[in-house]
Amino acid sequence: MDENTFTLKLTIPANTTGSLGKFRYLLFDVSVTEREDNFGDTFYSEIDVIDADAPAVIAATAPAKDFTIKTSDGKCTITINTAKAPALKEWAETKLASALVEWYPKIVAQLPSEGFTAPDHFKITLKPMDNVAYTAGQEVVANSDWLKNELNGEAIGSLIHEAVHVVQHYGYSSGKPGWLVEGIPDYIRWFQYEPQSHGADSVWLQKHLKNFPLKYTDSYRVSANFLDWVARKFDPTIVTQMNAALRDGTYEVGLWKKFTGKTADELGAEWKQEVAALISPK
Ligand SMILES: [Zn+2]
Repeated sequence: MDENTFTLKLTIPANTTGSLGKFRYLLFDVSVTEREDNFGDTFYSEIDVIDADAPAVIAATAPAKDFTIKTSDGKCTITINTAKAPALKEWAETKLASALVEWYPKIVAQLPSEGFTAPDHFKITLKPMDNVAYTAGQEVVANSDWLKNELNGEAIGSLIHEAVHVVQHYGYSSGKPGWLVEGIPDYIRWFQYEPQSHGADSVWLQKHLKNFPLKYTDSYRVSANFLDWVARKFDPTIVTQMNAALRDGTYEVGLWKKFTGKTADELGAEWKQEVAALISPK
């Protein structure tokens, strides 16, 4: 948690018209909001202090409202907020919306588990921030500055990745290996949503992993490549099965042997050998 994040308590008098009075100083009573929860951010509103003799302030136009879309199967409502990223409004309403409308049901179909119903609504907020994107439950927040430069690149794919997190509906609690939690969204993104981008397949490995100490647990694209390899060679349902176990809390490393006949490390070694042969210069 950023130590510089504070809660601001400000008492506003009930009388909202007329003058507040004459002040020389404003005293802010501040304290740290949150130390434990990475997503315990506080929303700030704006406080304007205006000189009584200042020229009249022109009223700001109201920020664009949320807009909502329904997935192609009618089962999920997605709200997208571009109030802090007006430049992305049109892109969000057209390209992003149509990708999510089509793909959310596909993601849900691929990641079922007993007794589980995927979220029937979630929200995406686009705004300037430090990271690329994160998902906390049914709230996705993505960096509008980064997206703006990626409109013809990674923008939509990165939000397909986040939509998978919404469907996974679990975090990084104990026993859930992070490489698998992140490998699954990248597998769906790079091998199903946009295989033509070659973002995690052998083309990508050849370009990016020349001298890489390759491990199947390297997460994201590397783990996605491993999952694709296991799915093709051993069990096409491996991602569905592993995701269900992660969601149910029954994941354990022995499951790899159960589904493929080989331990995770045996699979990892075999995969690495194939990939190394592929990416080493002939
Ligand atoms: Zn992720």
